[in-house]
Amino acid sequence: MEPNQNNWLRTNWIEKGNAQRIFVELKFTLRDCNSLPGVVGTCKETFNLYYQETDSEVGRSLRENQYVKIDTIAADESFTQGDLGERKMKLNTEVRIIGPLSRRGFYLAFQDVGACIALVSVKVYYKKCWSIIENLATFPDTVTGSEFSSLVEVEGMCVSDAEEEADNSPKMHCSAEGEWLVPIGKCICKAGFHQKGDACEPCGRGFYKSSSQDLQCSRCPAHSFNDREGSWRCDCEDGYYRALSDPPSVACTRPPSAPQNLVYNINQTTVSLEWGPPADTGGRNDVTYRVICRRCSWEPEECVPCGPNVGYSPAQSGLVDTYVTILDLLAHANYTFEVEAVNGVSDLSRTQRLFAAVSIATGQAAPSQVSEVIKEKVQQRSIQLSWQEPHQPNGVITEYEIKYYEKDQKDRIYSTVRSKSTSATVNNLKPSTAYVFQIRAFTEAGYGTYGPRLEITTKEEATAAIVSSEQNPVIIIAVVAVAGTIILVFMVFGFIIGRRHCGYSKADQEGDEELYFQFKFPGTKTYIDPETYEDPNRAVHQFAKELDASCIKIERVIGAGEFGEVCSGRLKLPGKRDVSVAIKTLKVGYTEKQRRDFLCEASIMGQFDHPNVVHLEGVVTRGKPVMIVIEYMENGSLDAFLRKHDGQFTVIQLVGMLRGIAAGMRYLSDMGYVHRDLAARNILVNSNLVCKVSDFGLSRVIDDDPEAVYTTTGGKIPVRWTAPEAIQYRKFTSASDVWSYGIVMWEVMSYGERPYWDMSNQDVIKAIEEGYRLPAPMDCPPGLHQLMLDCWQKDRAERPKFDQIVGILDKMIRNPNTLKTPVGTCTRPISPLLDQSTPDFTAFRSVGEWLEAIKMERYRDNFTAAGYSSLESVARMSIEDVMSLGITLVGHQKKIMSSIQTMRAQMLHLHGTGVQV
Ligand code: AMP
Repeated sequence: MEPNQNNWLRTNWIEKGNAQRIFVELKFTLRDCNSLPGVVGTCKETFNLYYQETDSEVGRSLRENQYVKIDTIAADESFTQGDLGERKMKLNTEVRIIGPLSRRGFYLAFQDVGACIALVSVKVYYKKCWSIIENLATFPDTVTGSEFSSLVEVEGMCVSDAEEEADNSPKMHCSAEGEWLVPIGKCICKAGFHQKGDACEPCGRGFYKSSSQDLQCSRCPAHSFNDREGSWRCDCEDGYYRALSDPPSVACTRPPSAPQNLVYNINQTTVSLEWGPPADTGGRNDVTYRVICRRCSWEPEECVPCGPNVGYSPAQSGLVDTYVTILDLLAHANYTFEVEAVNGVSDLSRTQRLFAAVSIATGQAAPSQVSEVIKEKVQQRSIQLSWQEPHQPNGVITEYEIKYYEKDQKDRIYSTVRSKSTSATVNNLKPSTAYVFQIRAFTEAGYGTYGPRLEITTKEEATAAIVSSEQNPVIIIAVVAVAGTIILVFMVFGFIIGRRHCGYSKADQEGDEELYFQFKFPGTKTYIDPETYEDPNRAVHQFAKELDASCIKIERVIGAGEFGEVCSGRLKLPGKRDVSVAIKTLKVGYTEKQRRDFLCEASIMGQFDHPNVVHLEGVVTRGKPVMIVIEYMENGSLDAFLRKHDGQFTVIQLVGMLRGIAAGMRYLSDMGYVHRDLAARNILVNSNLVCKVSDFGLSRVIDDDPEAVYTTTGGKIPVRWTAPEAIQYRKFTSASDVWSYGIVMWEVMSYGERPYWDMSNQDVIKAIEEGYRLPAPMDCPPGLHQLMLDCWQKDRAERPKFDQIVGILDKMIRNPNTLKTPVGTCTRPISPLLDQSTPDFTAFRSVGEWLEAIKMERYRDNFTAAGYSSLESVARMSIEDVMSLGITLVGHQKKIMSSIQTMRAQMLHLHGTGVQV
């Protein structure tokens, strides 16, 4: 009721903490001035709110004017005194915000200048965003910003075992209202951990997570494991590895096993090796091969690395393909080659290296080029040449070969002249004609390479000679008469004797003359050498049916022949059902000579008609490509077929195959055809296991057969299959085919083993000459081995004829009991032919002496260490026992095993009792 009221109420000092913006909520009641009588002019309906910031409590020292006014607060609702005396109190709520505050605390003050108010409550507060976990990041309690519109940016902390995503650290924004807004970035579980709710949990045992980027833990890949939780990768099992470049997600792998079926071919001082991929690639597809070459002294065997002078084509290591040629080896030296398959983990492995190895003795190097050729005398029809011996003769030069041809002739027909000295005269040349000459030397090792081409033109013809003969018709008539007689004689003999081969490249078949005169009777169908035809095309059409190319459907390529691809396909002749065929094609760009040689095979094959000789369906010569169509032999060549099915046939089945081959050969020999290259690789097998003799190519022995090597007699011969008389003086006959047949028998019974294993060709020739013969293959019935030995009689007249062989085999098939006795228990007396040079094993006193005799003394310690101290104990050894001694070279295993078998047989013969194995 009094004017000029000024009443103050002040709070305690309030510490503000982190707050920047403070909310003040007031609850109060206020009396309506109108409801109060007698207060007009003095009564107020508002009050004032003030604050004052200080850093500490200041007591009562503040003056009124030091307070900062926040607002004049009016009531939305006031109350009046009701008539009935009841008060209708109405509570007002007002909120005011102060800030930003800068001191540690503040006072609030209320000024009442005449209002009738009751301050019911004062709530002073600030707002914050409560701690949360969002995107695997923890955001702490955060007090809101100072301004109404400001957002507080807060960095999140990754929960344990999580990490910030690269360039994407987690952030959130705390709004003035205490709400989290706008999350940015995130955390992700570290390697070895995965997310579960708002936390990262370790991967379980047997699981891994290699990177924080991966979402889930994965099971350990093959051949790896872990027995800890929270792994980022799995450890490899023993013997398995991970290459540096292998991610943890790939399986652990191991080095590959050794390459398989390592075979070699020696050509003087060049060795080619070929092998099959390892049976086990170790689980990787980065297998390459490397070759280690060592040169070994003869006795005792000590080997040193071959050094940088040896060449490797295409390379020594990192080989992708399964072959390599090693060049520039020393002549007449012993080498060992190890072929190792390696992959990305080979270098990590500490286990023993696995490799295939062969020991090889090189031959003599061929002579070097004849280069310094001088024309001594050039005449109309002859040229005399002389030359120097090559710089590196590499042996005694026994002959030179001068090859020449007319320079301008389209079909280059070569002629050759031989000379024992370093000069020669080439006669019968045409006058005024340019000739090209090349010379090469010949030694025991074969021919050297030709020297450079030398072009010489003969002199012009003198007219005088023509005039003189014109003047003397008697001379002309005499010359014509003599020439005519000679030609006639040659024609007659040429036809009768019939040198049965095409081209100059096939060597003489001396034996044929004998066969022709001894066995041929008028009326018997006889093989005719296509070469006796002047026009080779006529020979083809005489013996082979011309097929229409539209009847042939080529399906796929199955092999590579000497002249082009070999394909399989179908032949549908009008009015007949279609048949599977093999189609040999002549590659494009052939020369006339190649075409002739190619079709020659058809001219030969077309003359044969026998179930055990591959059958010619016909040829396509009119049209391209030129093709030879042969019956299809589903199982390919016999040697590869047997290797693939090692041990899978019964003896009867094997003998059945041999019987077929013998029948085919009986037919061919009856026709007067000498095969010369009978070997399992040249027998084809069809789906019914029927074996058929094949490969009648004419130059085949020379060019086609990788087994053929040069011998001292100059020709190329597959030594291991060839009878000694054919090697020594080229006496090829049906009897030499019988020898080869014996080798085929051995190949068949040993499932495609290489005859004489890894012995060198030279050693084979020597051993045969000294009376050594291949021992019986494992499990070979003695009767069959006896037949082989008979085929290998030194005296060819003693060998059985194919007709007899067929008879013997037929008898065996009819009486399977004769095929039952295993070698180890056979009571057949030892044939003196088995191995005339084989020592008498029963005469040895110790294992050491025996090993020495078979040149295997390097393994003496292996035998001693394993407790094989007596020959009796050795005689009981099986192939597994031999392998368990650590003898890894297959050739050595076989050599030792065959010697043990012989020893066993000898002991048996001596004591008359079997050795139990
Ligand atoms: P060749 O030129 O006769 O040595 O043939 C090359 C390869 O082709 C042989 O090693 C066989 O694998 C295959 N071949 C040849 N003739 C036939 C055939 N008649 N049936 C099936 N495969 C064959």
